[in-house]
Amino acid sequence: MEKHTLGKTGIQVTPVGFGVLTVGRTQLNLPVREGAALLRYALERGVNFLDTAQYYRTYPYIREALRGTRFEPVIVSKSLHGDACGMRDAIEEARRELDRDVIDVFLLHELRHGGDFANRRGAFEALCEAKAKGLVRAVGASTHHIDVAERMAKAPEMDVLFALINYKGLGVRRGAGPGTKEEMAAAVKKASEAGLGVFAMKVFGGGNLVGDYLTALDYVSKLPGIDSMMLGIGRRDEVDRMIEYAEGRIDRSYRPDTSEKKIRVDQGDCEGCGACIGRCPNRALRFNSRALADVDYDLCLRCGYCAPVCPTRAIVMF
Ligand code: SF4
Ligand code: SF4
Repeated sequence: MEKHTLGKTGIQVTPVGFGVLTVGRTQLNLPVREGAALLRYALERGVNFLDTAQYYRTYPYIREALRGTRFEPVIVSKSLHGDACGMRDAIEEARRELDRDVIDVFLLHELRHGGDFANRRGAFEALCEAKAKGLVRAVGASTHHIDVAERMAKAPEMDVLFALINYKGLGVRRGAGPGTKEEMAAAVKKASEAGLGVFAMKVFGGGNLVGDYLTALDYVSKLPGIDSMMLGIGRRDEVDRMIEYAEGRIDRSYRPDTSEKKIRVDQGDCEGCGACIGRCPNRALRFNSRALADVDYDLCLRCGYCAPVCPTRAIVMF
């Protein structure tokens, strides 16, 4: 597979990466050995870009996948911490649990509005300090927000941007409200022109656009400024299709079978607005004891109507 350089970092990545969140406790919850075998399957076929996070608790899968191998993938991790101390600990935790001296890319996880960068300045300074010490090769931020992407394009210390974008604009935000895919595409382009490496998340809108597989991938891969797309992977055939797509040899009539997919509300992203509850035709969503939405699988019809109304992209299909 050809590789792209992430902005000015010199780091070379495959045009598709493996989002390791999918195998972990919040989604498929695979046994470590099984998830690691899937990861290794992707690495053996040439994928060199992996995304994880402190919050995902998926480091053991990556460590097990790499144990005793020659693979040196580019690993992205990130932390929700806002202060320097928490971020330093997060970097040390990643180095220890991944059994690597250097983490390739470390990010502020999920900046939620333009001002959030200033709020989490201490954490970002810790990232820059780690980079100066050679513990991290590149630093940046992940976000669902257009205003954050625009802000990042003007931050000279930023190396990379991990931004949400998909062909329906599901989950794209501007400040406290919704944004459009066109605005995010423009922000991503600006960030890339400013020298940042840019890779995309939620290309399938949290699994909700998988049925439109090629449309979803074509839209993001052709956007100016996108260096790679991070895809959630749970099975070997998904690895195969992803690679076939990246190598331009996929059967263009391919339509994934989504009949076994399930809806889940990511409790870390839900803000308890209730929009999904009002939209569900079968009363399969209700508030739990933390006033966040939860799915009743006995009632869920897997119609997917709830996902597009969620402003935070908290509803995923896996
Ligand atoms: S997929 Fe359909 S039935 Fe299931 S929770 Fe969402 S809206 Fe309700
Ligand atoms: S629409 Fe999204 S943020 Fe609102 S309650 Fe449902 S899952 Fe939570």
